[in-house]
Amino acid sequence: MAEQAVPRPADLPSDLRHFIDGKPASSVDGATFPVADPVTNEVYGRVAAGDAADIDLAVAAAKRAFTEGPWPRLSARERAKVLNKIADGIEVRAERLAELECFDTGLPITQARGQAHRAAENFRYFADVIVALHEEAYIVGDKQVNYAIRQPAGVAGLITPWNTPFMLETWKLAPSLASGCTVVLKPAEWSPLSASLLPEIMAEAGVPDGVFNLVHGIGEQAGAALVAHPDVPRISFTGESGTGQIIMRTSAENLKEVSMELGGKSPCVVFADADFERAVDAAVFGVFSLNGERCTASSRVLVQREIYDRFVEALAARAAAVKVGSPADPATEVGALIHPEHYARVLEYVEIGKREARLVAGGERPAHLTEGNFLQPTVFADVRPDARIFQEEIFGPVVGVTPFDTEEEAVELANATKYGLAGYVWTKDLQRGHRVARAVQSGMVWINSHNVRDLRTPFGGIKASGVGQEGGVHSIDFYSDVRAIHVAVGDLHTPQFGK
Ligand code: NAD
Repeated sequence: MAEQAVPRPADLPSDLRHFIDGKPASSVDGATFPVADPVTNEVYGRVAAGDAADIDLAVAAAKRAFTEGPWPRLSARERAKVLNKIADGIEVRAERLAELECFDTGLPITQARGQAHRAAENFRYFADVIVALHEEAYIVGDKQVNYAIRQPAGVAGLITPWNTPFMLETWKLAPSLASGCTVVLKPAEWSPLSASLLPEIMAEAGVPDGVFNLVHGIGEQAGAALVAHPDVPRISFTGESGTGQIIMRTSAENLKEVSMELGGKSPCVVFADADFERAVDAAVFGVFSLNGERCTASSRVLVQREIYDRFVEALAARAAAVKVGSPADPATEVGALIHPEHYARVLEYVEIGKREARLVAGGERPAHLTEGNFLQPTVFADVRPDARIFQEEIFGPVVGVTPFDTEEEAVELANATKYGLAGYVWTKDLQRGHRVARAVQSGMVWINSHNVRDLRTPFGGIKASGVGQEGGVHSIDFYSDVRAIHVAVGDLHTPQFGK
């Protein structure tokens, strides 16, 4: 075994199946696809390859559980109890989850541990939200009372990407289940392993059969069938902007409500008066943590001219010192990229970058890692706004630095891509911080901060980075139908037509 390989977890599930109506299931046609780990790229198992027939079964089970079962009819407090038990189930398996995620995705083990904790928190948080939620009543004069209620929307289709897969699955499962929906989850094909723990966690927590269904499969087959299914009124999708466009088009056929968390190319704007050391720390962490496979990665660093050379030098030195290695090693800061196909795509961007800009760090496979999808943390300087590495999401440990002179120019550069997910501003001038935060076109902006987020705040992107917001009541609203009910309480005059 190569030195960088992650030891195979004990009892590694190698036959990953769907979970439909409370039972494991193979695909109707028996089809499977192989799955490999990103360090050895050796196949460790086979995954059921779902298609429309499997989605039909899962949606039928979810619909039955919704129309006939107890789940949507439980009180908020009763559902919250189950959600907290799911969180308990995740917490007792935290180490197992981290181990599976590290092996399957190449995420460094210390960062994988953080994801397991965040996954449990998602359930605890939405348990609290539904218990605290109250509906609104409107008194209209002395004759009528109106009130609005939220009712669970029905079967929710949840489609998730391969980066931090378990955390992102729970980020959708927690609010959809909290709202009283029943669900069909379609995890990403490159990272199916950690989802295999969900059936036992759900069963142990007392989630009734049919409420949680899992269908593995290729996006264009299983994912597309879920999106096209007429009995699935909500689609919550996280993935690439291009896939999001396809999903919106299909969803239009049935006028489905969609929530889209898509790609990004987020700017980190550093003014000359910023706390230099902290800004460098944040820029390094922002693009190299989670292997750079992070939707909110600060992959474009815009630096004011006065400090530009010093900043580029510091960033390059820090990138060169980042520890790339076995994802299982607690000292590792950047592990292996998810899949050889993705790795090849990232390497292609590195080659494009070498032609478009000035390479100041990385750009090669680390010499000590002869196999696996490893890349040195890579920094390009003098990246022009028309460069492809400025405009396109790379989704790996690659960052481009661009100089600016004025605040106006910084904002113009920050807004010069099709994306609008996150933005970061570093300055000691508070007014400028707020001004720039308002001017940067993105769903989220951090001022002198790096991606720390409380679950109560909205999460989402604008432009090509998303449609709608997740988090807090935003998520509950998405998975609910809102109904306004109007009641006469006084002597309400009715027009006397045809009398
Ligand atoms: P992807 O779009 O290729 O796949 C995401 C999911 O969609 C997978 O489960 C896939 O099987 C499925 N899918 C693919 N084609 C489909 C189709 N035609 N119909 C239905 N489903 C289909 O994305 P990815 O490569 O897995 O993930 C990386 C992307 O996700 C990056 O662009 C990243 O920025 C984005 N992302 C965004 C956020 C956010 O919150 N905004 C978070 C994480 C990742």
